[in-house]
Amino acid sequence: MRHINSLTNPVIKSLRALHDRKRRRQSGQFLAEGTRIVTEALELGWAPDTLVFLEGREDDPMVKRLIRQAEASGADIIMVSAAVLAKISRKDNPQMVMASFDERWSDAEQAFTADDGVWVVLDRVRDPGNLGTILRTADAVGARGVMLVGECCDGFSVEAVRASMGAMFNIPMAQMTEAEFTARAASYKGEILGTALPASVDYRTPHWQGPMMLLMGNEQAGLTDGLMAAATQLIRMPMLGRSDSLNLAVATGVALYEYLRHQPQ
Ligand code: SAM
Repeated sequence: MRHINSLTNPVIKSLRALHDRKRRRQSGQFLAEGTRIVTEALELGWAPDTLVFLEGREDDPMVKRLIRQAEASGADIIMVSAAVLAKISRKDNPQMVMASFDERWSDAEQAFTADDGVWVVLDRVRDPGNLGTILRTADAVGARGVMLVGECCDGFSVEAVRASMGAMFNIPMAQMTEAEFTARAASYKGEILGTALPASVDYRTPHWQGPMMLLMGNEQAGLTDGLMAAATQLIRMPMLGRSDSLNLAVATGVALYEYLRHQPQ
């Protein structure tokens, strides 16, 4: 364990840089904040590259346990001042623990060969809060994974990790271009349920059983024509008030719990 109090230390600077997508791409690492989320990661077998914690908190039982586990997995353990922690987190009131991890992308092929369960497929999702919330909900219903199609926001951004409440450590994330997805979808054996406002089929109509994919559209534009054409069925959730659509994460949650309702208990 070492102690760093300099705001200009290169390790501190590179941890802070993990807020930027470009720097995450370069390093292949991302940042998770908070005792709860970092504990979740370690319990799920993710080994941190670096664990940072607030000086004076080393005897806190949860922090102590995290230090012990991170040490055992060979992480760089750094005790820092509140000012350094604020610098890394870019917040005035940072969490007392942060850790960096190597990004893990799953093989997208898994989604097409699964013989049961649901993969959530997100078309150009833009809001990391939506993405994190969807990862959390997908994890809650036992989905097989979440596939990002096209130009999506980064599933490893601090905001997405935070919104997932650590669920992103438990659910496979994969990515594909739209062209790759539609080409592969043509020979997929399961149902591909697309959610779209122009759909006429109520979301409670499909059987929601067997291997399936749930396609969710971009926050502004909805699903592309190509993805709608790839769907075996297009479904919609009734909208009785004045709003013309649900928030993407809410719509995903409604559909995923309908999926869960059809699964054997
Ligand atoms: N203006 C967009 C459109 O025309 O599709 C609205 C997009 S909506 C905010 C984001 C995504 O959530 C949609 O592409 C769809 O996947 C899903 N969604 C939202 N409300 C829905 C509804 N009532 N029925 C089906 N899907 C819905």
